[in-house]
Amino acid sequence: MTQQIETTQQIEHFIAGARTAGSGQRTQEVYNPATGEATGVLHLADREDLERAVSAARAAAGTWGEMSLARRTAVLFRFRELVAAHTDELAALITAEHGKVLSDAKGEVGRGLEVVEFACGIAEQLKGEFSDQFSTGIDVYSFRQPLGVVAGITPFNFPVMVPLWMAPVAIATGNAFILKPSERDPSPSLLLAELWQRAGLPDGVFQVLHGDKETVDGLLTHPEVDGISFVGSTPIAKYVHETATKHGKRVQALGGAKNHAVVLPDADMDIAADNINAAAFGSAGERCMAISVAVAVGEAADLLVDKLAERARGIRVGNGMEASSEMGPVITPASKERIRRIVTAAEEDGAAVVVDGRDLIVEDHENGFFVGPTVIDRVRQDMTAYEEEIFGPVLAVLRVDSLEEAVEVINANPYGNGTAIFTSSGAYARQFKRQVTVGMIGVNVPIPVPVAWHSFGGWKDSLFGDHHIYGPDGVRFYTRGKAVTERWPEPHHASGASFAFPSSS
Ligand code: NAD
Repeated sequence: MTQQIETTQQIEHFIAGARTAGSGQRTQEVYNPATGEATGVLHLADREDLERAVSAARAAAGTWGEMSLARRTAVLFRFRELVAAHTDELAALITAEHGKVLSDAKGEVGRGLEVVEFACGIAEQLKGEFSDQFSTGIDVYSFRQPLGVVAGITPFNFPVMVPLWMAPVAIATGNAFILKPSERDPSPSLLLAELWQRAGLPDGVFQVLHGDKETVDGLLTHPEVDGISFVGSTPIAKYVHETATKHGKRVQALGGAKNHAVVLPDADMDIAADNINAAAFGSAGERCMAISVAVAVGEAADLLVDKLAERARGIRVGNGMEASSEMGPVITPASKERIRRIVTAAEEDGAAVVVDGRDLIVEDHENGFFVGPTVIDRVRQDMTAYEEEIFGPVLAVLRVDSLEEAVEVINANPYGNGTAIFTSSGAYARQFKRQVTVGMIGVNVPIPVPVAWHSFGGWKDSLFGDHHIYGPDGVRFYTRGKAVTERWPEPHHASGASFAFPSSS
C-alpha cells in the first residue's frame, strides 16, 4: 500500500502559469485501465481554486484580447510546432490513462493538431465585412470580438483531441480558456498547458482546473465566465446547457451518440466489413463517432454478418502500449460490467451473440478492464443494446428490408451525431444523405469526423445549443459581432434633425 502511494503521481492544476495542488482537499485516483493499477492522485479543485483560475483568466483575457492578431497568431504557430514535436509523449500519456492503442492515440493528437492549424489562419476568419457607401456618405461594417473568459469541459475518450477542438479557436480569437478535463485521464492536459506556455502564451490564457460536478457547477454559474463548451454524455450535456444558459452564458454542449452504418446489397461487402469493423472496435468503441449499429438491408445481411464476425474474432486485444495490440481495455470496471450486462440482456431478449467478448481475459493483464469485440445479430429497436449508447466494443446488427426502412430507423433514434452508408449507387447515397436527421454523414466512409475547416456537430440529442464545434462555427461561438454604421460629414454641412426612422438614400 505504501509502495503504491510512492509510485503514484500527484496530478495538479495549472493556474496562472504554474502547476499547483491548490487548496482543495478532495482527491481521486487515476488508473491504468490495462493493468487496473492506480497510477495517479488527482487533486480536485475547491471554490478558492476556481476563483483563482477565473480571476487569472479575467485579467489575462483583457491583455490577450487586445494583443494584435499578428502577435497572437505567432503563438499559435509556435504551439503547432510544439504539439507536433511532442506527439509521441502526448500519445503515451493518453494510452497510460485511457488505454487506447498508441497508434490510435497518435491519430487523436494529429486530429487535434489540425484544429491548431485552422486556428493559425484565424486572421482570415476574423476579416469582417464591409459595405462601402451603403447610403450616401455612409459605410457599414461588421467585425467580431472575443467573449472574454470561456471554459471547456471535456470527456475521457479524447483527452487531447477534444480540448484541442476548443482551446486553439477560443485562444486565437482572443479569449482566456479554462479547461476542466475528465477526471479519468487528466495528465495530457498538463502537458498541453506547458506547451502553450513554451509557445509564449501569457499566463492565465490557458489554465487547467481539475474537478468533478462541483467544479463544473462552479464554472456553469460563475458570473465572470462568459461561455461554456461541453463535450460528454447526453444527460450531462443537457444539464450543462440548461444550467449555463440560465446563468446567461453562451453554451455549446455536445452529447452522446448511436451511429448507424447502412449497408446496401450493392456495396462491396469486404470494404464495408473492414470499415465497420474498424469503426466499431477501434478505441474499444469508446468514440462518439464509433459505429455501434450496422443496418443490413435485404440480402446484404447474412454475408455482412459473416464477414463482420470473422474480422471481429481476429482483433488482437491487449495493452495499448504494446505495438501488437489493435484494441485496448475500456475505461473502468463499472463500464466493463455495464457492457457485459447489456449484451446478456440482448441475448435474453432473443438477439444472437455471434462474437462474444464478455469473458475475455488478457494474459498478464488479469486485472485490466478488458471486454473483447462483440457482435450481436438480430437486434431490435426495443432492446437496451439498441436504445442505449453502450460506449464499448459492441456492434449491434439490425436487419431491414429497404433503404427507406433504414432511414426510418435512423430518424426515429433520439441521437443524430454521425451515420454512414455503404453502397455503389450515387443515387441511393444522395437519397440517404438528404433524408437522414443526422449532423455528419459518411458515404463509404465510416467515421465522418469533418476536417478542422468544417465544423463538427450532431443533431437532436447529440447537440444542445446552436453552434457546432471548431471550424467557422467555432469562431462564431467564441466571438460576438459588432456592426458599425459610420459617416464622416464634411465640415459645415449640417442638414438639420430628421425625426423619421433613418432609411438609406
Ligand atoms: P461524461 O458526460 O460522464 O463526462 C463529461 C464531462 O462532464 C467530464 O469532464 C465530467 O467531469 C463532467 N461531468 C460528469 N458528470 C457530471 C455531472 N453530473 N455534472 C456536471 N459535470 C459532470 O462523459 P464521459 O463518460 O467522460 O465521455 C463519454 C461520453 O461523451 C459519451 O456519451 C460520448 O458519446 C460523449 N462524447 C461526445 C462527443 C461529441 O462530439 N458529441 C465527443 C466525445 C465524447
